[in-house]
Amino acid sequence: MSESLVIVGNGMAAARLVDELAKSALGRYAIAVIGDEPRLAYNRVLLSSVLAGETASHDIELKPADWWRDRGVTLKYGCTVGEIDVGRRELKIANEESISFSKLVLATGSTPLRLNVPGVELPGVHTFRDSRDVDLLLTLAAAKKRVVVVGGGLLGLEAAYGLAKAGAAVTLVHLMDRLMERQLDAPAGALLKSLVEKKGIKVLLNANTGRILGERRVEGVELNDGRRIEADAVILAAGIRPNVALAKEAGISVNRGIMVDDQLQTGVSDIFALGECAEHRGICYGLVEPAYEQASALAQHLAGRNAAYGGSVVATNLKVSGVGVFSAGEFLGSDRSEAIVLGDFRRGIYKKLVIEEGRLIGAVLVGDTADALWYFEMIRSRERIAGVRKDMMFGRPAATLAAAA
Ligand SMILES: Cc1cc2nc3c(=O)[nH]c(=O)nc-3n(C[C@H](O)[C@H](O)[C@H](O)COP(=O)(O)OP(=O)(O)OC[C@H]3O[C@@H](n4cnc5c(N)ncnc54)[C@H](O)[C@@H]3O)c2cc1C
Repeated sequence: MSESLVIVGNGMAAARLVDELAKSALGRYAIAVIGDEPRLAYNRVLLSSVLAGETASHDIELKPADWWRDRGVTLKYGCTVGEIDVGRRELKIANEESISFSKLVLATGSTPLRLNVPGVELPGVHTFRDSRDVDLLLTLAAAKKRVVVVGGGLLGLEAAYGLAKAGAAVTLVHLMDRLMERQLDAPAGALLKSLVEKKGIKVLLNANTGRILGERRVEGVELNDGRRIEADAVILAAGIRPNVALAKEAGISVNRGIMVDDQLQTGVSDIFALGECAEHRGICYGLVEPAYEQASALAQHLAGRNAAYGGSVVATNLKVSGVGVFSAGEFLGSDRSEAIVLGDFRRGIYKKLVIEEGRLIGAVLVGDTADALWYFEMIRSRERIAGVRKDMMFGRPAATLAAAA
């Protein structure tokens, strides 16, 4: 008889894990997936494209209903798991139903951070995390509302772009002195700001949100330096927090995320965690590729093979059409590294390649991201770059031609 494997959360990590299990351990497990969103698992990354009107909401489903059915997966969506009884190996679903498990995987993702400022509970303050949020933001944009987006990272920029494209008047406020400061150096951040402003978005840097103004609903934002921005709505895009409450209440070790080892196992045997809710070697990833690498390692482990997840090298791509931005690895560099830099700001292009001990260790590209994947592969593989170094800034075709000559 198949062993029962229950996955909590029906997001991107869960869907990939089932896909991998179907390939490597078919029939070994009776799989149930319980998710609280009221629809089949979808590609969350593409919510930005849905908001920008570039993809239809129904086109972002990861797998059709019959894919899950054909693999014998029991799907419960629109159901919140409220409690894990570790001793009895049982989960309690919000409507009192219980479900038992032999193995459990937590794939509960993250929640947007809510700022700790007065007014944050007012109607008109929203986040950008799931497809219900996107429906709401599209309604705001269609009504030509004035919107303040708080946060100039990837998510805030994509929210601002989508809203502006759909008709809203958007001001983006960011605490730091440059956009995407965790992925870009100062020149890249400055260029990005000018490119984003050309899309009709007003950008305020060094802008610390002091409070959200309004009596019965949002009327504006006041910054700590006294500046005021009138607004009908505020979108919070100032970071995420892994969903760990379920694990914590069950006595499973958590830090920022649910702590897992190289087999993605939590402190309790046969209970695993992956994706944005998990913390591996001190890192909680906020991107999908690490979740997929974790899913692959966990599926191998659950199939009885030797497998270990050793961490991920991450890259970021901004999805704002006409504004290519890519960043990977150690893009700032250090005393031990050197950088090849090309800046053609008039044409909106900036590229920086960071090299250490004959290897590419980081890259930032703005405006021309054609070779992003090539650079990323070099960073990941840690291959020596002597053969292509002279021409690598000019792209793969130029560098490989020169190397062959
Ligand atoms: C707008 C947007 C754009 C993004 N763009 C990029 C990008 O360009 N590149 C990139 O790498 N990443 C991007 N990300 C991040 C990426 O989507 C996440 O890293 C990825 O979805 C993580 O997958 P996950 O399965 O861990 O979490 P999720 O996909 O969030 O899935 C977790 C699921 O668990 C459910 N859940 C939580 N608690 C419970 C419970 N108690 N009971 C039942 N269900 C529960 C949640 O509702 C959710 O459906 C983006 C995210 C957003 C929001």
